[in-house]
Amino acid sequence: MKRKLLNCKDPVLKKKSEPVREIDQWVKDLCFEMKEIMEQSQGIGLAAPQVGELKRIILIQTKDGIKFFINPEIIQKSDEVEFGEEGCLSLPGLTLKIKRPKEIKVRAMDLEGREVEIAAKDLTARIFQHEIDHLEGLLIFDRVGFWQKIKSKRMLNK
Ligand SMILES: [Zn+2]
Repeated sequence: MKRKLLNCKDPVLKKKSEPVREIDQWVKDLCFEMKEIMEQSQGIGLAAPQVGELKRIILIQTKDGIKFFINPEIIQKSDEVEFGEEGCLSLPGLTLKIKRPKEIKVRAMDLEGREVEIAAKDLTARIFQHEIDHLEGLLIFDRVGFWQKIKSKRMLNK
């Protein structure tokens, strides 16, 4: 395995990812490598920038196994929001309570290049939003207030 998980001090995690133009062998290899990394670290979601690739690819743990989503886009959000604890493979030891819409609809491509639309709620909706945030260079401490952000960063620097 060539790639590995980056931690929060890596500037790559603060950058915006590029859309995938073509699902070629490179993209497929990246997806499978991400799946291995996600399984090894027992994560429930992973985004390509977390392994150092600024591409719009996320992996989500579902009841039917790990699924790949390419160029995911949130096309609908519920007005109803919910607070929930979130951790991140890139920020070991940190969990924060984050407010997010309870239900969303996501449009993406699967590994065969077919367009898919997924309605997700509760934890699955949360994982999608967390991973899509990574594609925008946002981490969980960017979703909390100023003082909580300072406290989290101080904790991570220990
Ligand atoms: Zn994360």
